[in-house]
Amino acid sequence: MTHIPDDPDILVIGAGAAGVAAARRLARAGARFAMIEARARPGGRAWTAMEGGYPVDLGCGWFHSAETNPLVAEAGAAGFDIDRSTPPWQKEFDSRDFSLADQREYRRAWNSFYERLERAAAEGRDRPAAELLEPGCRWNTLIDAGSTYVNGVELDRLSVVDFDRYADSGVNWRAPAGLGALVARLCEGLPVAFDCAATLIEHSGARLRVATTRGVFTAGKLIVTLPTNLIAGEAVRFSPALPRKIDAASRLPLGVADKLFLSVAGADDLPVDGRLYGARDKVGMGSYHLRPFGRPLIEAYFGGAFALELEAGGAAAFADYAIDDLAGALGNDARKRLKPVACSAWARDPFALGSYSHALPGCSDERAELAAPVDGRIFFAGEAVSKHDFSTVHGAWRTGVAAADAALAAP
Ligand SMILES: Cc1cc2nc3c(=O)[nH]c(=O)nc-3n(C[C@H](O)[C@H](O)[C@H](O)COP(=O)(O)OP(=O)(O)OC[C@H]3O[C@@H](n4cnc5c(N)ncnc54)[C@H](O)[C@@H]3O)c2cc1C
Repeated sequence: MTHIPDDPDILVIGAGAAGVAAARRLARAGARFAMIEARARPGGRAWTAMEGGYPVDLGCGWFHSAETNPLVAEAGAAGFDIDRSTPPWQKEFDSRDFSLADQREYRRAWNSFYERLERAAAEGRDRPAAELLEPGCRWNTLIDAGSTYVNGVELDRLSVVDFDRYADSGVNWRAPAGLGALVARLCEGLPVAFDCAATLIEHSGARLRVATTRGVFTAGKLIVTLPTNLIAGEAVRFSPALPRKIDAASRLPLGVADKLFLSVAGADDLPVDGRLYGARDKVGMGSYHLRPFGRPLIEAYFGGAFALELEAGGAAAFADYAIDDLAGALGNDARKRLKPVACSAWARDPFALGSYSHALPGCSDERAELAAPVDGRIFFAGEAVSKHDFSTVHGAWRTGVAAADAALAAP
């Protein structure tokens, strides 16, 4: 078993993508370090569960900006296969009641919305992205629903300037064995204390002191990778308090996105990697990825306030909604063929409290504020501190490497 020092030079809080990336960098540099993780498993919001006979990603699943994504190289080195087929959202819909002509009109509306958003961001005056919807456009509901999937939040709570900073090459790949499984593999052999939740970080003394559910750790430097909602809600407290960090984290809240996997009996009539919408009359709607990797599954995606509402009803609420919705789209017979196999509830997860971060309107510079080290010895990493790759696993990874480099370089 890997030895875990309780007085390391550098302590990493959290063994999600950012923490694992930081730890691997520290290990390569020969640093004396340890990691603490509140859960019994590594990966955080990268989590592959074996359900219905398949590895399913309940958190991140896509290598976005794949051709420059550092995790693609890590996957190759770890012997993980990469699937490079076109993602469903770059294809036409298989929804019977969504004609090709309408789909093209919708795509044009979506593209013009993005162009308006880019122009507004270039002017530099931040505002809610909803202000850039074209009044009366028949596709506004669907564009807003799209934001709940991409950002975990509706457009009225999304900063135009921050959203525009997101870098997307448009190339998206997957790992059939799971992106969560990859992060877990990359954590193997690292010195992690699991089931070890930090509760208090005292930083007035010569050494930093971290109280946890498994005793006290002391360290010379810290790398903090906690999700913003935990910092904002002071699930882990700093002493003396760091009000500016709490403010920054509150202005970069985690939105909500959840997945439900359904098994499909006799799935051959459904297109492989197909895309379906059910009812499209309100922003709170489901999006369905049919037969991912050709498997007899449907991956349902829910975002924003609607996902939060479904979480309140538990896994049954997700399944009831999705099965009704899919029966409407595929025919009533679908009810007999669909069975829920796995479901997430990220906002109710005490060690995440949400899915991925967005900046509130007017708060686009808070990512830099959150990223700034304290006293040259407390460093911050995690998707929310990334200026251009926020909300992603590769963004988290890159910030982890950067925080480790900064910690190693600090006196
Ligand atoms: C449904 C969903 C779909 C997604 N899809 C994609 C996708 O396709 N592509 C993509 O790139 N990204 C996607 N993401 C986002 C991606 O998963 C995250 O951005 C990324 O995994 C965040 O990594 P992190 O290290 O910043 O945070 P986390 O993974 O949250 O890591 C933080 C760690 O800290 C631990 N922790 C919390 N509290 C404590 C404590 N008190 N003490 C010690 N440890 C603690 C947590 O348990 C966790 O392990 C998705 C996320 C979700 C939820």
